[in-house]
Amino acid sequence: MADIEQLARDARADLEAATTVADLEAAKIKHLGKSGPLVLLLRNIKDLPPEQRGPVGKGGNIARKELEAFAADKGAQLADAELDVRLRREVVDVSLPPRAMPQGTLHVLTQTRRLLEDIFLGMGYQVIDAPEVESEWYGFTALNTPVGHPARNPSDTFYIEGRDQGAGANDDALILRTQTSTAQLRTMQKSTPPLYVVHPGRVYRRDDIDATHSDMFHQMEALAIHEGLTLADLKGTIEQFLATLFGGRLEVRLRTHFFPFTEPSVEADVQCFSCRGTGDPLPGDEDSERCRVCRGEGWIEIMGAGMVDPNVLGMVEGYDPDKVTGFAFGIGIDRVAMLRHDFPDLRLLFQNDLRFVRQFPGRP
Ligand SMILES: [Zn+2]
Repeated sequence: MADIEQLARDARADLEAATTVADLEAAKIKHLGKSGPLVLLLRNIKDLPPEQRGPVGKGGNIARKELEAFAADKGAQLADAELDVRLRREVVDVSLPPRAMPQGTLHVLTQTRRLLEDIFLGMGYQVIDAPEVESEWYGFTALNTPVGHPARNPSDTFYIEGRDQGAGANDDALILRTQTSTAQLRTMQKSTPPLYVVHPGRVYRRDDIDATHSDMFHQMEALAIHEGLTLADLKGTIEQFLATLFGGRLEVRLRTHFFPFTEPSVEADVQCFSCRGTGDPLPGDEDSERCRVCRGEGWIEIMGAGMVDPNVLGMVEGYDPDKVTGFAFGIGIDRVAMLRHDFPDLRLLFQNDLRFVRQFPGRP
C-alpha cells in the first residue's frame, strides 16, 4: 500500500509541475501510460500474495482515477491559457493600412522582344523557337560557312563537345549557337514554302571586349521564302518594320556586305530616328554639337540581311532554288532596346541592377 501512495505522490508532483500542454502529456505518458509504474503494478497484481491483491487493486484503481481526473482538469486549464496567449499574440489590427506588395515588371529586353514579335506577327509572320545548343552542321555547314572560316574556330565559338583543336569540320560537334540564323534550316526542314517566320533568342560568342559586346546577347532572325521574292521585297519589309518600330517612315539604305549564307548580302542602315538624318543635336541640347544617337552621321547601322543563298535552299527537300527565293535578316534585340531607350552600355541589360531595371516599367 505504501508503494501505491508513493507512486501516486510522484505522479501528482510531475503533473502539477507541468506548465504546458506538452509537458503535461509527457507526465501523463510517464506515470499513467502503458508502461507507467502504477499501471504495471495493477497489471501484475496476480503475482502478489492473495491477501494483498484486494487492497492493492482497490487502492491502485482509486489513485489512477484521481490522477487521470486531475490531469484532465489541468490539461483543459493549460490549453485555455495557451489559446489566450496565441490570440493576444496573433491579433490583427484591421484598422492598419495594408503593406504594399512589390509589383514586378517585364524586363526591358522582354518588352523589346515582344514589341518586335508583335510587329512581325502584324505582317503575317510566325514566331518560332529553336535550340541554343546546336550541332556544327546547323550552326555552320548548313549556313554555307566553309571549313576554316574564323567563326568555326574555338577561339570565337563556344564548343560544348566534339571539337578537336586543329581538326576539320565535325558536323556532329555541339556548339552554343553564334547567331539565330541556325533556326533557318531547322524551320525549312519542318515546313514547305511559302515560309514567313521570325525567331528571337539568345546567341553566344567569345567576345566581351568592351561595353558594346557581351559573351551572350539576343538576336531576332527573320526568314521569308516564297516564289518570286526579290531584294525589293527585303527592302520594303525592312522599311515597314523600322517605320513601325521607330514610329514614322525613315529612309533605309543598303550597303553591300558578305555573309556566307546570303547572296547578295547587305548591311541595312536606317535614317536616324532622333535627328531624322540631319546629324544635328536635339533642340535644346546645348552640350552636344551633333546628334547623340547617330553621332552626327545621320544613319544608324541596324541589321545584316540578304537573299538566301541558293546553296542553302538546295540543302532541304522541297526548296527548289530555281522555283523559290527568300530573304533573311538578323537584328540585335539588345541593340534595339539600347537605341529606343538611349542607354550606352549593353551590359546594363544583364546586371539586373534594380535602379536600371525599374526605369522601364513595362506591364507584367
Ligand atoms: Zn541622329
